[in-house]
Amino acid sequence: SVGAAAGAATRSSLTIATRYATRRRQFEGVPGQEKRLIEHRAHRLRLLPRVARSYALALLQNQIIERIHEQEKLIAAGEWDVANPSDEQTWKQREMESRAAAVKVAATRHATDTIQECREACGGAGYMAENLLTVHKADSDVFTTFEGDNTVLIQMVGKELITAYARGLSDLDPMGIVRLGVENVGDVLRRRTAVPMAVQSLVDAVTDREETDIFEAGYQVKLFEDREANLLRSLARRLRGAKKMEVEDAVKAVDAAQDHLIACGWARIDAMLLEAMVEAELKLDEGSVGKRVFEQVRTLFALSVIDEHSGWYQEQNILSGVRTKAVRAAMNDLVDSLGPWADVLVDAFAVPRALVDVPMLADAGVGEVSRD
Ligand SMILES: Cc1cc2nc3c(=O)[nH]c(=O)nc-3n(C[C@H](O)[C@H](O)[C@H](O)COP(=O)(O)OP(=O)(O)OC[C@H]3O[C@@H](n4cnc5c(N)ncnc54)[C@H](O)[C@@H]3O)c2cc1C
Repeated sequence: SVGAAAGAATRSSLTIATRYATRRRQFEGVPGQEKRLIEHRAHRLRLLPRVARSYALALLQNQIIERIHEQEKLIAAGEWDVANPSDEQTWKQREMESRAAAVKVAATRHATDTIQECREACGGAGYMAENLLTVHKADSDVFTTFEGDNTVLIQMVGKELITAYARGLSDLDPMGIVRLGVENVGDVLRRRTAVPMAVQSLVDAVTDREETDIFEAGYQVKLFEDREANLLRSLARRLRGAKKMEVEDAVKAVDAAQDHLIACGWARIDAMLLEAMVEAELKLDEGSVGKRVFEQVRTLFALSVIDEHSGWYQEQNILSGVRTKAVRAAMNDLVDSLGPWADVLVDAFAVPRALVDVPMLADAGVGEVSRD
């Protein structure tokens, strides 16, 4: 798929740029000792949050493939009739299509942004065709447009979310509606958007948004869910009257809320990415080095998204300015502690050597060619 091709081109580019950063030396720190690029914090901040998002995308893509496989098994066993699906199966199918659209949008947007950053992060050498970054850029550029333009597809993700929400409400029996008084949009969403149980129980344990440790997985998922539920609730309010309007007025009302619908779609995508990371992390051995490093990668992804939306979190009184400053400080700490792992993190992408053994990594100008 286009999403998978975008992911592969991005991981290849990040592998090249990160290896270059751990070899190429520029500017002295201590007099007489030139620093490697990765030893400059600005450089770590350019590469490592993007490495973290690539992990999230790869995990979400794997999760979707697993679910499609499960669905195929049910179809083969005669338990899922494609020509005559049950109501629940129809909704599951739509949720899956929305997930696939979300991955396409997220992976191709990430590719366009990241491959350009990788090209720049390798300076002039990055512009040489033999070092492949410009080739990946040229190949992946159109991915945001074909097989469904991203701006159109993201609206499909948002629309599916609001439809699922409306259905969640219409599904409720009278007792459920009474309970909705004490529940919130998030509860309806969770019933409809397939949040894994293990992830949800981490979220449910969070009680205080201003006090909980920002490194906690459940807290991070909660902040992502808050963004999704909050945007969805206000979008639903804006569109509530449209159903009863004349067509022309309804079209105007929907158009006026288009940016809001797109913001909802992105909030859903980010939540799915973080949930996929947390789900994968729960399978790692407690106390293992792998888990300790992965926790930092997951936190770096989560905090980079929260930082990107810090203005929104403050506008909505979900996080204080003190808290969003702490998020930025934690990102700096994380890229410092992950810096020494940079090579390992991209080695784990396991990109074939033929795609990443480029001349600039072996040139004398790089200063250090051995990877041992
Ligand atoms: C290299 C290449 C190969 C292709 N191969 C195939 C193929 O094999 N089979 C096939 O069927 N098609 C193919 N396509 C077509 C591709 O699917 C379309 O180009 C794509 O869906 C975008 O449609 P469009 O070009 O008409 O752009 P337009 O729909 O005209 O979009 C132009 C701009 O307007 C924006 N826009 C459009 N509608 C909306 C909206 N409702 N709300 C907000 N913004 C909007 C878009 O975001 C975009 O930025 C290919 C395209 C390319 C470039």
